[in-house]
Amino acid sequence: MHIASRLTGIGASASAELSAAVRALRARGHDIIDLGIGQPDFDTPAHIIEAAHRAAREGQTRYPPTGGTQALKAAVCAKFQRENALSYTRDQILVSNGAKQVIFNALMATLEIGDEVLLCAPYFDSYASMVQVLGGVPVKLEVQEADLFILKPDALAAVIGPRTRWLMLNSPGNPTGAVYTHDSYRALGQVLERYPHVSILSDEIYEHIIFDDRQHISFAAACPSLYHRTLTVTGASKAYAMTGWRIGYGGGPKELIQAMTVIQSQICSGACSIAQAATVAALEGPQDFVSTSCAAYAARRDLVVERINAMPLLSLRKPGGAFYALINVGALPFKTDQDAAHFFLNTAGVAGVPGHVYGLSPFLRLSLAAADDKLEEGLARMRTALEGIL
Ligand code: PMP
Repeated sequence: MHIASRLTGIGASASAELSAAVRALRARGHDIIDLGIGQPDFDTPAHIIEAAHRAAREGQTRYPPTGGTQALKAAVCAKFQRENALSYTRDQILVSNGAKQVIFNALMATLEIGDEVLLCAPYFDSYASMVQVLGGVPVKLEVQEADLFILKPDALAAVIGPRTRWLMLNSPGNPTGAVYTHDSYRALGQVLERYPHVSILSDEIYEHIIFDDRQHISFAAACPSLYHRTLTVTGASKAYAMTGWRIGYGGGPKELIQAMTVIQSQICSGACSIAQAATVAALEGPQDFVSTSCAAYAARRDLVVERINAMPLLSLRKPGGAFYALINVGALPFKTDQDAAHFFLNTAGVAGVPGHVYGLSPFLRLSLAAADDKLEEGLARMRTALEGIL
């Protein structure tokens, strides 16, 4: 079968590949602790599952409106207003199969061949692959560990060119855990005001997983003058432990949402009606799950930061949000972070994702979205493995 050249050099997403490798090792009898995959280890709250049952029984089983049910769009508008200080009307909202599809639709609706998309490396790996598949050019903007992985305005100004179509922002960030403040966004906003041809995609999927006294800020709320060229993306996956339900949503300019809806109508006719009903219950129902799961991630973050920094040759800056630890493995006696990831997988039976996947080395990303005892054991095994090479 002929495979289109647009797929040249593009693999399955890193987490899908890693999961396959872990499954293969387990099938051969290896005891692997998987700290690679980034999804909540909690179950979806019961009232959300109940709402799905109800929707199915009540006959919400036919094609929903392409861009999302009226009930979910209304719940999303209320959520954006309540949590993000962002006003969107229903025709400014698109509901898709996960935040990923919102992002893909947006890029597909806007990118011409050769258009550039600015990515802060390390970035969520799918951004680069999506841009490439669509004939765009991912432009890597390295952010520094010493700057807590926050993009600086001068670095942004230096790379914007005539073909720049989008800047992708992601706070709290995967894999960095970086959290932008109001001021750090304002500083970027001042640069972007000078370049009206650049749009901003603010991926806020981890907005509820934020630690200490930090507050999640939406880019479009921090920079109101850029509201009309910002797409705000979030969804149910991380906040409500609903990764399998595949519901994401975006708020943005009407004409962009309209174009994204056209694409969605031709590709998948929309997101699952039952999962949409469940998400209405998630957004409108009790929110205690969001804070209890966040507290659990915070406690795990503390554990991992303490244990990793007590190990030889590894260092870890405290992530401010999301559920990942991006460990600096540059002091290990390996050529690449891929080798470091293999070492921990093969010697300690701990799976993590090497930084090069996210466009910046030398790092290893571990997920905090794992049961406490698994995390404890994984960390203990890593320590033993390191002691073996000292
Ligand atoms: N954006 C980022 C930064 C992510 O880490 C992920 C999930 N790994 C997504 C988007 C995709 O979310 P969803 O499951 O809603 O498609």
